Amino acid sequence: MTKKFLAGSSVEELKSWLTEQGESSFRAKQIADWLYGKLIFDPFQMKNIPAKLQNLLAENFFAPSCQIAERVESPRDGVVKLRLELHDQESVELVVIPSDERVTLCLSTQVGCPVGCRFCASGVNGLTRNLTAGEMLEEFLIGCREAGRKCDNIVFMGIGEGLVNSTELFKVLDILTSPDYYAMSPRRITVSTSGFVPGMLKFAELGKEFTLAISLHAPDDVTRAKIIPDKLRYPIKEILAAADVCRDRTGRLYTLEYTLLAGINDSPAQAEALGILAKSHRAKINLIPYNATDSEFRRPSREAIELFEKTASATGATVTRRVERGAKSAAACGQLRVNAEAKKKDKK
Ligand code: SAH
Ligand code: SF4
Repeated sequence: MTKKFLAGSSVEELKSWLTEQGESSFRAKQIADWLYGKLIFDPFQMKNIPAKLQNLLAENFFAPSCQIAERVESPRDGVVKLRLELHDQESVELVVIPSDERVTLCLSTQVGCPVGCRFCASGVNGLTRNLTAGEMLEEFLIGCREAGRKCDNIVFMGIGEGLVNSTELFKVLDILTSPDYYAMSPRRITVSTSGFVPGMLKFAELGKEFTLAISLHAPDDVTRAKIIPDKLRYPIKEILAAADVCRDRTGRLYTLEYTLLAGINDSPAQAEALGILAKSHRAKINLIPYNATDSEFRRPSREAIELFEKTASATGATVTRRVERGAKSAAACGQLRVNAEAKKKDKK
């Protein structure tokens, strides 16, 4: 029997499992209360559960299945980046970002990534496997524990292309927003995609007010092809049409994320084209100056970044720049995992 993840089990599922085990079904509510009310998912910390049942839970479920293998904290702004080791020794990353009164979690959706954008450390070795809903929920719970409380915002902007793993991701979205579970507002959850159109259309069907972010990186398909390999790259027109479907379904405007790469997508002409495109779709632009990894790309100069921002804004589009935080150590998405993988290979 394949083990299930305790984080993410519904009260109904727990009830039927308890009955199978000859245990009282009223315990289901108690277990769910630990999981979803108190954010505790280790059975041995569930104080009102008898020892025998705690042991049964630990034997039958992954609870917990992930361990914190590495922790990098930025003393300047309190951003904590965690590398989690999964039950099969693979790793993913989770970032806890405090700001003013709020805490945002940046979660991974896959081990590796099938899209393989040429500037991104997450996709260098392709996709290893999808994360299960239980694993993503454990990421969430570990992040909340790290922050010392339930988090305010979640962005699925860690390792992986979440909309390729939509079945598991949508279970997580449901559990996070359902009143019976974590009761989060969908508006506080952002799913970022490189523009995987079939997944975006399924996302639109959810019909809930989740926030969508599109990693566009170029105002035209020729430039985009220099950054994202053919395999999972869709034409910009199709991506924006799918994003418009999401917007019209939920009433939520979307964001175009744009990683600035020197000499590739950072010219004033590209800034203007991006601004015009964004305005025509009522989308916001979020600029992300490239965080150097082991790639062929470079980050533009400060002057080039400022000129790009000014030129795009001059079209009337709303332009923000991603606040750069925790940039000191391995800030680029997927970098901790890549370093850990390299060390594993050295040992072999
Ligand atoms: N796969 C999804 C979500 C994860 S990547 C997507 O691509 O949208 C989240 C964001 O981080 C993307 O916009 C991506 O462009 C950006 N990113 C990844 N590596 C980066 C780096 N080294 N420097 C700057 N931005 C990076
Ligand atoms: Fe995958 Fe997103 Fe990285 Fe591209 S930017 S390789 S889609 S994680």
